[in-house]
Amino acid sequence: MASILEQDIKFLPGVGQRRAEVLMKELDIRTFGDLLYTFPFRYIDRTRCYTVAELQALKQEIISTTGLYVQLRGKIMRFELVKGTTRAKTRYVASFSDGTGILELVFFNGIKWLREHLKTNVEYVVFGNPSVFNGKINIVHPEMDEAAAEKSVMPSAFQGVYRSSEVLRNNGLGQRAFLKLQTAIAAATAGKIAETLPEYLLNGERLMPLPEALSQVHFPQNAESLAKARQRLKFEELFYIQLSLLKQRQVRMDATPGFVFATVGDSFNDCYRNLPFALTEAQKRVIREIRKDMGSGKQMNRLLQGDVGSGKTLVALLCALIAHDNGYQAAIMAPTEILAQQHYESITKLLAGTGICVGLLTGSTKKKQRQALSEQLLTGAMHLLVGTHALIEDTVQFKNLGFVVIDEQHRFGVEQRARLWRKGEQPPHVLVMTATPIPRTLAMTLYGDLDVSVIDELPPGRQAVKTLHFNDSQRLRVFGFMKEQIKAGRQIYVVYPLIKESEKMDYKNLEDGYESITRAFPRPGYVTAIVHGKMTAENKAIDMQLFVQGKAHIMVATSVIEVGVNVPNATVMVIESAERFGLSQLHQLRGRVGRGAEQSYCILMTDYKLSTEARNRIKLMTTTNNGFEIAEADLRFRGPGNMDGTQQSGMPINLKISDLAHDGQLLEHVRKVAFEILNADPYLTFEKNALLCSQLEKIRSGTVDYSEIS
Ligand code: ADP
Ligand code: MG
Repeated sequence: MASILEQDIKFLPGVGQRRAEVLMKELDIRTFGDLLYTFPFRYIDRTRCYTVAELQALKQEIISTTGLYVQLRGKIMRFELVKGTTRAKTRYVASFSDGTGILELVFFNGIKWLREHLKTNVEYVVFGNPSVFNGKINIVHPEMDEAAAEKSVMPSAFQGVYRSSEVLRNNGLGQRAFLKLQTAIAAATAGKIAETLPEYLLNGERLMPLPEALSQVHFPQNAESLAKARQRLKFEELFYIQLSLLKQRQVRMDATPGFVFATVGDSFNDCYRNLPFALTEAQKRVIREIRKDMGSGKQMNRLLQGDVGSGKTLVALLCALIAHDNGYQAAIMAPTEILAQQHYESITKLLAGTGICVGLLTGSTKKKQRQALSEQLLTGAMHLLVGTHALIEDTVQFKNLGFVVIDEQHRFGVEQRARLWRKGEQPPHVLVMTATPIPRTLAMTLYGDLDVSVIDELPPGRQAVKTLHFNDSQRLRVFGFMKEQIKAGRQIYVVYPLIKESEKMDYKNLEDGYESITRAFPRPGYVTAIVHGKMTAENKAIDMQLFVQGKAHIMVATSVIEVGVNVPNATVMVIESAERFGLSQLHQLRGRVGRGAEQSYCILMTDYKLSTEARNRIKLMTTTNNGFEIAEADLRFRGPGNMDGTQQSGMPINLKISDLAHDGQLLEHVRKVAFEILNADPYLTFEKNALLCSQLEKIRSGTVDYSEIS
């Protein structure tokens, strides 16, 4: 029998067909359960009363925020019906006083009813969202309750505030109506909500039982029970995601044997010994972690995170050599042709004279070459293949692919990873590398089924990039600085934002910028290259090469260079309209400089006028170089859905109550709990874990949608 939570929302008293459609469109609420699991995002303390005088002191705050709700207690002095004009609607205005001052309560709708029912000389409890109009504080459409009857009206000490929208309000689904719906659903489901966590977890973790938690989260009795309710619901939400991810990981590891690379042989050792520098401790640690996976007999699926320039590519190469030492082929896949080319060149250099055969395969590899490569890959004569997406096309067949590196993970989807697996009878070990540090909490959620390694240390001798903030009116100064740097023999990137929504204008800005740069830096003294998405691959490559070879002083580009070219002589990164980039993106761009021995600079250009939030973000960039710190901040500023690397991951993050920016500790704890449970009972066959099993089943089949992560 379907549970009450699966009932169609239209059957809830007060909903009906039309509102059901609105709820579905606006909030994705289809069932009783969906509504019950739509939680307030904020609470108002209804035990606190403001005075009019207090509100007047808060005028500035009222102007600048929209989310302030207040409760006042007082009487109505007089009413006035203000007739509408072409510019203003007819409104009914009540002057409200509590002895400390007067404010206006304004109504546009239901005037007839109000005229009949609102009275002077009666004490009211007024509740609403104050605003400032013509310099005066008013409240539009407040809730009004007679103070004498107030106790029965006020549902709880704290009143939940639910997400709202114009459409919801226009369909009679404002805050108050929503609260009524929550009251109705509480009544409809009373006594019918089954616990979703086993008893031993409830006791061991001291969690509030589910029915109580659901009731308290909508209608909290007090601050303490609200906190306990939220804690319980967050625990459940995060716990099942982790349990599901960790179980998937386990199933995959059990089902997928891995090639065993038992030896570390000559090619690894030779390359290692011939490096012109020592590996950092972090690099060594990561190589050890990967080696352990490669020897375990299980297929490796590891995510390697590390700031740009931390030496990930080198780690990848050394591990590819381990595969080679064990008689297997390896492949390194880059997101762009330019990058593949660069990897190919640096790897060829490092392996010169070793007899290891390295090939390059990209979209522009000629047919003839392609055929030759195919042959070599099939016979095993080709040991290491570097390339782009072209590498995963079904026509590319290996003799025995044992190890695959995917560089800059966020450009590759899950599907593409899967295609790699099908390259042989047995899937190769997979190392996914990303230079976009993902906050730990996010990584645990998005890539919870992967193992994660982190390079958290830069090679020694690198100077931190100096980051400076200038506004548009200081451009001449910036040009002057650029000239000094060019005179000293350095090269410069100038990057413009480009997003789909404003593509036309962005291209215009880029072109204007390019023009003003070529005017300020004229030929023949200066050479400026340009690379953007509208150019042909050929032209892009020409200009890119100009810059890579040091023949161009300035490279004007859209964020296409974001992903990874290495020009150690480039020491200045100028980022135009920096406020339009995400923090992680800015950090990525900044990582393009500071690769050589010289002091490098990142110059953030913005409008003179900036929002407070934008100013804070820019300020953070000028004060830290730590990618993880920046990623954490980005998560706080923009939320998980907008983080670089999450959208492309193909996994929706749809958390109903937890917040990855703030619930990191709980998440760590919950993951540990899930891990321990699976350790003791890998297939969840113990009687006491039966509930976990059935709950996971429900989550997978999608009947519980509060964790859409699969
Ligand atoms: P990433 O891929 O993490 O951005 P790379 O592997 O491309 O970083 O390394 C950036 C540069 O640093 C390369 O020129 C590389 O040769 C060099 N490098 C890597 N590891 C070290 C090290 N331990 N000491 C000095 N230089 C290193
Ligand atoms: Mg790299």
